[in-house]
Amino acid sequence: MALTGLDIYKLLPKTNCGECKSPTCLAFAMRVAQKQAAVEECPHVTDEAKDQLGAASAPPIQLVAIGAGDAKVEVGNETVLFRHEETFHHPCGVAVTVSDADSEGDIAARVDKIVHLIFERVGTRIAVDMVCVNNDSGDPAKFAAATKIVADKCPTALILNSENPDALKAALDVCADKRPLLYGATADNCDAVAALAKEKDCPVGAKADGLEALAELTQKISGAGVKEIIVDPGTRGLRETLESLTQIRRYALRKSFRPLGYSQIAFATGGDDPMQTVLSAVTYVAKYAGIVVTDAIEPWQLMPLLTARQNIYTDPRSPIQVESGIHRVGEPGPDAPLLLTTNFSLTYYTVEGDVESSKIPTNILVVDTEGTSVLTAWAAEKFTSEQIAAAMKKSEVEAIAPHKKVIIPGLVAVESGKLQEETGWEIIVGPKESSGLPSYLKANWGG
Ligand code: SF4
Repeated sequence: MALTGLDIYKLLPKTNCGECKSPTCLAFAMRVAQKQAAVEECPHVTDEAKDQLGAASAPPIQLVAIGAGDAKVEVGNETVLFRHEETFHHPCGVAVTVSDADSEGDIAARVDKIVHLIFERVGTRIAVDMVCVNNDSGDPAKFAAATKIVADKCPTALILNSENPDALKAALDVCADKRPLLYGATADNCDAVAALAKEKDCPVGAKADGLEALAELTQKISGAGVKEIIVDPGTRGLRETLESLTQIRRYALRKSFRPLGYSQIAFATGGDDPMQTVLSAVTYVAKYAGIVVTDAIEPWQLMPLLTARQNIYTDPRSPIQVESGIHRVGEPGPDAPLLLTTNFSLTYYTVEGDVESSKIPTNILVVDTEGTSVLTAWAAEKFTSEQIAAAMKKSEVEAIAPHKKVIIPGLVAVESGKLQEETGWEIIVGPKESSGLPSYLKANWGG
């Protein structure tokens, strides 16, 4: 169990020198216990005390890195149960399965498909970031051959899924530089898997039936010197898995229970209903998997899964924003329309998509409204005639729109009179909804 504030205080110098920016050693101890300060911030603490305090100052859920270089996926180090309390810091890894029981041609084709599963949403590329190679054949040589195909063709991080240490070793020999997750350490094989992981500096996935057995297993693996662990309580049904994921997260955060203070892996695989597979995977992303493994591979399955992950791991305190200023759609000339919108990504990309579908080259002036949508920004006085006029001046819109006409969203039509006075421009009130832009632009600016 984690140390209490008083436990920590007993190990501090008790001189109240204030160099840690806390007024007293006791205040500092309380901050360390609440994970608000690191023990290293006290320059006078002894090495011996530091070792003892390590448990108290470590994050409640360990940070684990899988993969190397640009493909590295970091999971864990979360500090809250609910996103609105703060934010979730490390997006859940999404892994798609590959079976070593398939032919080499089928494996290569599946990997090609995975590599091309990249989508663009609100200006961000979202993609599958891991491949989980399953040792369904039970044959170490086939497992190694399948892993090599995946490692050669796919730039993502890898999970090697086998309970056979010989198979893990054979596969690891062809991809050790990728620092894969060795998934499948159980009570029976944990010594061999831990030795392999320690030798190659790889993270380990620990699997046990039930939380008690899992806590025992993680202590054994960490006692063997493995630094990074991912846990699996062995459940597979949606309800049972959701319960386990939630219990483990609560133990880690609410009880500071170190043996379960690890990121979790969940499996949305093997079902008959492809829609249910996606729903299960999305549920696990929301609560509280660090890695979701799925056999879903169709774009219609992965797009909603990756979108859900993007939404859940977006900091609710800072909406996704696009750069303010002029954005060009197509190659607008001096007669092209000039539209106004806000810098909330969802708003901007909706407008941009609708303008694109009109096929009328257009300039869009994006006003910095701190990532809020049109009506919210207007209500918060961030999209008033004064701010719009200032944005027009800053972006020197006269150079790109010498006709001196600007189209404002219909939702802020009330600003048109004042904006005309402020700028001297002709203010045209556009459609209320972005979906009205294609027909509006074609009818009024189609030439
Ligand atoms: Fe106490 Fe160390 Fe802080 Fe000084 S720096 S007040 S000794 S905890």
